[in-house]
Amino acid sequence: MRWIGDDCAVVRADAYAAVSTDVMVDGTHFRLGARCGPEDAGWRALAGAASDLAAMGAAPGEAYLAIVLPDALSDEDALAVHAGAEACAASCGLTIAGGDLAAGPVLTIAVTVVGWAPAPEALVGRDGARPGDLVGVTGELGAAAAGLAVLEGRAQGPEALVARHLRPRPRMAEGAALAALGARAMLDLSDGLASDALRIAEASGARLDLDATRLPLAQGVDVVAVQLGMEPAELPATGGEDYELCACVAPGSRAAAEAAGLRWIGRVSAGAPAVTWTGAASAERWRGYEH
Ligand SMILES: [Mg+2]
Repeated sequence: MRWIGDDCAVVRADAYAAVSTDVMVDGTHFRLGARCGPEDAGWRALAGAASDLAAMGAAPGEAYLAIVLPDALSDEDALAVHAGAEACAASCGLTIAGGDLAAGPVLTIAVTVVGWAPAPEALVGRDGARPGDLVGVTGELGAAAAGLAVLEGRAQGPEALVARHLRPRPRMAEGAALAALGARAMLDLSDGLASDALRIAEASGARLDLDATRLPLAQGVDVVAVQLGMEPAELPATGGEDYELCACVAPGSRAAAEAAGLRWIGRVSAGAPAVTWTGAASAERWRGYEH
């Protein structure tokens, strides 16, 4: 394998490549400061892209990292961005196989990730949900939005929430396991459950009926929500960047999906594409988080 040092990365390919690109800009997707350093920014940028591979069940392959560095930042800062991305890549089984660095007005980190699959059917899209399917999520929700509120001083809460916001962990193993057991539709929660679930509903031509009381909330999310004048479920429903997976699974795969880490939050029904909520008074104003 050839890579850094040659003009191109040369990679041994599997049959099908799954490719995704994410760009994160200082001031828009993160805010460099005392508690969010360049290493955190590098981690988050890589995580956001890697999470898309997890969402389709692609086997992790390579990552390509392009950094625009403003004058105010040093070479050490650029290395720190790279180190953060490298650490996240290693945790995801990705190899940073190339990239570029240029001077520019504001720290900008563009990450392209490549995952691999032996056949297109091995990858999970958003359009396969069918009436009767169970809807589930991995991990715990709300930590990223609650952590951002703590980071910005809008609320007080556990430091663990800030860490979850700064260093999300893409669900590579869970995504692969859910794809292998035949999950019918899947995506990663990047914009908030309310709008991400709607994407599945629209792509699949079905309705997702979700129960807000069943959302697995990270510890401290409820405490932060109260300070923000929100229902606890509102944070994961409308707050982005949890990077957990939301999957729709046939009832026959229930036990296997639970073993892969899914917890059930609702069902798929026949009907016009929509997301309905029970158990939350504020649900009608929920919208996804758009940058
Ligand atoms: Mg995604």
